[in-house]
Amino acid sequence: MKHECTYCGCDIERHDPVFVNEGANQRDNQTGQFCNYGCLAAYFEREELAIGTTCELP
Ligand SMILES: [Zn+2]
Repeated sequence: MKHECTYCGCDIERHDPVFVNEGANQRDNQTGQFCNYGCLAAYFEREELAIGTTCELP
């Protein structure tokens, strides 16, 4: 996988990268990489990934 931000396409190595895995923490499970939490949050908002997906709180 190249070092491009999943959200904006910038080179994440120039920033403070954040990686997202689905499932176990293995390279194969990596589904996203972002410059920083800002791009991560913006991506979530754009893709509506966080709507209705929180685990149940007591
Ligand atoms: Zn970015």
